[in-house]
Amino acid sequence: MTSSGEAKVVCVSGANGYIASWIIKFLLLRGYTVKGTVRDPNDHKKVEHLYKLEGAKERLQLIKADLLQEGSFDSAVEGCEGVFHTASPCVDNSKLKDPQSEVIDPAVNGTLNVLKSCAKSSSVRRVILTSSTAAVHFNRRIKTSETIVDETWFSDPDFCRETKLWYNLSKSLAEKAAWKFAEENNIDLITIHPTTAIGPLLQPTINESGETFPNYHRGWVNVKDIANAHIQAFEISSANGRYCVVESVEHYSEIIKILRESFPTLQLPERCADDKPPKPKHQFSKERAKSLGIEFIPLNVCLKETVESLKEKKFLNF
Ligand code: NAP
Repeated sequence: MTSSGEAKVVCVSGANGYIASWIIKFLLLRGYTVKGTVRDPNDHKKVEHLYKLEGAKERLQLIKADLLQEGSFDSAVEGCEGVFHTASPCVDNSKLKDPQSEVIDPAVNGTLNVLKSCAKSSSVRRVILTSSTAAVHFNRRIKTSETIVDETWFSDPDFCRETKLWYNLSKSLAEKAAWKFAEENNIDLITIHPTTAIGPLLQPTINESGETFPNYHRGWVNVKDIANAHIQAFEISSANGRYCVVESVEHYSEIIKILRESFPTLQLPERCADDKPPKPKHQFSKERAKSLGIEFIPLNVCLKETVESLKEKKFLNF
């Protein structure tokens, strides 16, 4: 592993999360000193895995910060060269009761709070914001099997509101607010737009599964590629703008097929949720992600790693 981060101090918000945990693991391996923010540093269950990372004992400090409290991130970002802002509610649209308070306020006001702390600091040189493909391609543009979505695409907030895509709306509004604030305050901002993260878990958590699989295509990418894209975007001085991070787009039926081949005894949904023809499969451009040096772990390997990780953590038993 390189030691590109030696003597450098960076901040990662939402340190205990799935993606942030991998960013921190890689930062520590590269020699960085990391100030991670969490809502409750004393919540042993949520932070224990971070203290077990190589280098954590010497170079990881966890600091309390909440997205909804202005000034909450001041002390965490002070003294840091880089800030990786990953904290944001990552939730299923159908489970939200009050989207404004549950996702939109923490995403938008939280991002602005972090950026305000960065603007006040004398040390921050670049901010990497974890956005999402949710802020990229949810609009009225027609997608065909020929379409390659790239970084010039933006989700349409009105479309997201009308279709009740509240998480997508939160990511879209947060990104928009971030670019405006960064421009007005001369902050060097880069936004990373991963699709659905899969791959090994460092933290103890699990997703739900059902009896049927959904009838649509989805983008997939390994969490390790997402983490590396964040760090490369910080380290490569010429990096700029937005970066989509998507390995491939596949229908759930294809995911089930790959899983069945690799794990014949794993219990998987047998039926598709409906028998309508799915929308055409579009793709995402990999060009800009590749310019960060991301080579993309293939989907079948990502899936294998995910299942093995869930089995090891005893979430799956087969
Ligand atoms: P995660 O594991 O649920 O992590 C989310 C983090 O945000 C947690 O640390 C959480 O803290 C923190 N957070 C939420 N509300 C907060 C608040 N009010 N104040 C302080 N912290 C708060 O999700 P993840 O998958 O790693 O997602 C991280 C980022 O990646 C998010 O910005 C998400 O939108 C983006 N993203 C995720 C995916 C994906 O497939 N997972 C894809 C694209 C983009 P608590 O543990 O205390 O709740």
